[in-house]
Amino acid sequence: MIIILIGPPGSGKGTQAAKLVDFYRIPHLSTGEMLRAAKRQDSPLGRQIADVIDRGQLVGDDLIMQLVEQRLAQPDCQNGCLLDGVPRTVQQAKLLDGKLPNRLGGISAVVALEVPQQEVVRRLMARAEIEGRADDTPQTIQKRMEVYEQLTAPLLELYRQRGLLCSVDAVGSPDQVFGRIQGSLRKKG
Ligand code: ADP
Repeated sequence: MIIILIGPPGSGKGTQAAKLVDFYRIPHLSTGEMLRAAKRQDSPLGRQIADVIDRGQLVGDDLIMQLVEQRLAQPDCQNGCLLDGVPRTVQQAKLLDGKLPNRLGGISAVVALEVPQQEVVRRLMARAEIEGRADDTPQTIQKRMEVYEQLTAPLLELYRQRGLLCSVDAVGSPDQVFGRIQGSLRKKG
């Protein structure tokens, strides 16, 4: 089972990802987390990644696809996983199609978290104060939102056409939102 989770920054993607992997007992493949781990290493690549992420821009497709391919090849992903943060562009979605091992039988569902823009800005500013993520500055947040609207949102249409899209209202408590995700995945069967 391959489930893809898509949502703008501040949509609660990380929280719902944790609930999904727990409930469906599948491994979590988060490109954001993998990149933050790479960024923490004091290496030229780490510094390059930090520079891109902290400006709210997207890391190159080659690196992302390498990370995904390596992770999918690990034994715990033999029966699938939750893809969180990837694909993020139409191009990445195409590249991913070529990387998914046949045994997985393709993408099962794409969960898209829907939150009004003013709500995500409010959440991100609150998170910036608590967690101090380096990419949670007002300027970077703005950029990440733009990148989402321009490059990631078009993906939803692509997956809608393939009959895979489960759009979920992500305003509410984490448990409420998760309940909606479960309901919409059940309907997909
Ligand atoms: P967010 O909550 O902003 O969606 P993520 O943890 O998914 O955060 O990603 C954080 C940052 O990592 C992104 O803003 C981007 O710079 C980089 N990143 C993550 N996934 C990808 C990807 N698939 N392609 C390019 N860049 C990515």
